[in-house]
Amino acid sequence: MSVNVAANLRARVERVRQVIEAAAVRAGRPVEDVTLVAVSKTVGPEQVREAAEIGITHFGENRVQEAEAKLEILAGQLPVAVQWHLIGHLQSNKARKAARLFSLIESVDTLDLAVTLHRIAEESARRIPVLLEVNVSGEASKFGFVPDALADVFPKILELRSLEVRGLMTVAPAVATAEDARPYFRGLRALRDRLNAANPRAELRDLSMGMSGDFPVAIEEGATLVRIGRAVFGERTP
Ligand SMILES: *Cc1c(COP(=O)(O)O)cnc(C)c1O
Repeated sequence: MSVNVAANLRARVERVRQVIEAAAVRAGRPVEDVTLVAVSKTVGPEQVREAAEIGITHFGENRVQEAEAKLEILAGQLPVAVQWHLIGHLQSNKARKAARLFSLIESVDTLDLAVTLHRIAEESARRIPVLLEVNVSGEASKFGFVPDALADVFPKILELRSLEVRGLMTVAPAVATAEDARPYFRGLRALRDRLNAANPRAELRDLSMGMSGDFPVAIEEGATLVRIGRAVFGERTP
């Protein structure tokens, strides 16, 4: 990668970190509570390596195959601390591979998928960390549990002991201003609190919410993971 591109990447990462910190301060939250997940979908392995070199430790990918190819190219070239999160819809037939590649599957969006991942975890005598994706806006185009339906099915998910259900994830709708996304973030936090209160064994902590256009607002509303693509890597070229 050219020196210039790396410098731009560094400047963007620095800027994003400043905005994260400012939002945490406004919310009276410790900045360590917020993890930056750099969304590297469509971004080449070389840029991922550069990002890791300047201290990015978490990467998000939305396709299993793309992540697999990238990881293969980057094998042995990344700091050991780097972790990969799956943030896109997962088909059951790719669940086994996803469980192997990703340290956190953020996009568990049906009970069936939860059961499949639980079985895979049992077979390998380990626990698989997951988030449950929630469709807070109710848009038909979005994956995720409908909030009330999740409240019903959540006790069943908690019985899947080989899943470590760490929290909830959502993708807010495209809105005119970041402020307009606030109710959706607030809704996800309220749902997390409601599920924890209603289920003694629940230990939902994480809220994965906020993207390039709205992450400061998400942090104000309690995000512990922000998934940021364009603000880190620049505009995606399709
Ligand atoms: C692409 C994507 C992001 C990042 O979006 P940006 O607008 O580039 O920050 C976050 N979450 C999910 C699920 C995505 O698919």
